[in-house]
Amino acid sequence: MKIAELFYSIQGEGSLLGVPSVFIRTSGCNLRCAWCDTPYTSWQPEGTDLDLSQILDEVAAHPARHVVVTGGEPMIAPEIIPLTERLRERGMHITIETAGTVFAPVACDLMSISPKLANSTPVDPRWNRQHERLRIQIPVLSELMARYACQLKFVIARPEDMEEVRALVGALQADGGNVILMPEGVDRGILRERGQWLAEVCKEEGYRFSPRLHVDLWGAKRGV
Ligand code: SF4
Repeated sequence: MKIAELFYSIQGEGSLLGVPSVFIRTSGCNLRCAWCDTPYTSWQPEGTDLDLSQILDEVAAHPARHVVVTGGEPMIAPEIIPLTERLRERGMHITIETAGTVFAPVACDLMSISPKLANSTPVDPRWNRQHERLRIQIPVLSELMARYACQLKFVIARPEDMEEVRALVGALQADGGNVILMPEGVDRGILRERGQWLAEVCKEEGYRFSPRLHVDLWGAKRGV
């Protein structure tokens, strides 16, 4: 299984914000977001092939009960099902961070779904059409939401993005309390500026706000 990085940190986004967690970042993605903050798992995928026992040994080396399987797109990783089953056997709380375009019957305690809005579509002609065709898969999102405890996490770059969020939340009949809005950006200044108007949107519409705590604490670095 190609792993881009494996590290111990705190969860920087969403409902488990601040929880010490081991992050397993798979390499490879079926999307190509224009603003992807981990291009080393998508645009230029890189990583090391590790077998399951190597991954599990590395996870066990840290004093965490929570593990976050992220990417890239972890749901397309070839051994994602046995990996999550083995993590569960070890009593770990498993979060999977996915864009929600592919279904796999994984073991998971929190399915953290981040559907990609139009603001993510790249201008690159090699990827523009595939990205646009794949980015929202209502049947996949519905199945994930039916099977798992979920949060829907949207990356918001501009006020116009909210129209798409409202339409999607309506189509999925999602509980607004599980909808989390997060400013787009890997720069503290931009996050603050976008976060301020986004917090007002959350107050008006009842969605949750999430900062990007790891960027606030450490900046746009790998392995945090
Ligand atoms: S889905 Fe995630 S990993 Fe894939 S291109 Fe978009 S931001 Fe990057």
